[in-house]
Amino acid sequence: MADLILVLNAGSSSLKFCAFDAGGSGGLALVIHGQAEGLFSSPRFTAFDAHGQPAGEHAWGEGVQLSHAEAITHIADFLRGQGSGHRLVAVGHRVVHGGAHFTQPVLATAAILDQLETLTPLAPLHQPHNLRPMRIIAERMPSMPQVACFDTAFHTTQPPLAQAFALPESVTKKGVRRYGFHGLSYEYIASVLPDIAPEAATGRTVVAHLGNGASLCALRAGKSVASTMGFTAVDGLMMGTRCGTLDPGVVLYLLDELGMDAGEIEDLLYRRSGLLGVSGISGDMRALLAADDPRAVFAIDLYVYRICRELGSMGAALHGLDALVFTAGIGQHSAEIRRRVCEEARWWGIELDDAANARGGPRVSTPTSKVSAWVVPTNEELMIARHTLALTQGAPA
Ligand code: ADP
Repeated sequence: MADLILVLNAGSSSLKFCAFDAGGSGGLALVIHGQAEGLFSSPRFTAFDAHGQPAGEHAWGEGVQLSHAEAITHIADFLRGQGSGHRLVAVGHRVVHGGAHFTQPVLATAAILDQLETLTPLAPLHQPHNLRPMRIIAERMPSMPQVACFDTAFHTTQPPLAQAFALPESVTKKGVRRYGFHGLSYEYIASVLPDIAPEAATGRTVVAHLGNGASLCALRAGKSVASTMGFTAVDGLMMGTRCGTLDPGVVLYLLDELGMDAGEIEDLLYRRSGLLGVSGISGDMRALLAADDPRAVFAIDLYVYRICRELGSMGAALHGLDALVFTAGIGQHSAEIRRRVCEEARWWGIELDDAANARGGPRVSTPTSKVSAWVVPTNEELMIARHTLALTQGAPA
């Protein structure tokens, strides 16, 4: 009977899952993945096998509310119904915040869960949702090993200067500092670079994680030395619906002069800004690339400009640049955005190979390009599964 590792990524209204066979000789193999989404409006469950073929589907209907506990029950029943050849041995979870203390994944005992709960004020929009499934599973299956994997942990190698805000020590001591996010994605990329792009693995490399959320990470020999996201995941690059770096004076202006309250400002900065806010059309890059509208053009121009400005900042932290790696939805799939970024960043010594870029890489720069450019698909779920296996069965992560 094969051992199964379940990876859960819980959001406010969705629960994504991936199941990996841990027993194979070739390492962790994806068996099935899917999600329950729209939990509080119009819940829908979909699942796909390892080849991307539909494996399950269910809709509860408009206006129905499905709790996280009910979604977990549905996923568990679905997995059980998939055959008797597997035995669930551990569950790995994506947890947005590990604070200053959690520098690597950890077995989530009851005491650890209590500790992680105290970090909720640092990530109120994500942390409670990440922790909820852990509590539910601990209650239902007390002996099931659970592992918490943090989006912040990979960045704890950054030097103190990169982690600091220029704020009084009394404020810093309360945990107000730069943490960085998308760490599981960067960790996965760093783990595969030695095979795909050895010079990027050992050199000064910027990884551009361009999904709905987006950030850059500066890697020196595979370790994070700086990133564009700071205290929260709203910092840095322009994103699908998040504004990225903003003069803090703007927040005070919104508060004092425009009379907005904290909830309204949060909604503006996280859900109504970025590509969506600037274009007024969509936060989805595909839709904007297809739109024949000057507002879409301007939004994309700003998106590329912001990446290239921040690339300069990452390059300064690294004292130079040897390689640029694109990943996540936009980075992996949009040859057009890669082309625009590489052209704007040409002065760094990046020379794009148009044919290779159109093919999707992995190398998208010419052989003579001073700075190499790459496309490397990320796999945060596999990274979580590796950590879960390592912590529960002693396998290397
Ligand atoms: P998340 O951060 O939610 O995991 P993804 O990494 O899947 O999201 O990235 C979603 C973004 O990727 C969306 O803006 C989507 O439009 C964009 N995207 C996906 N495929 C393409 C494509 N072929 N061309 C341009 N953008 C794409």
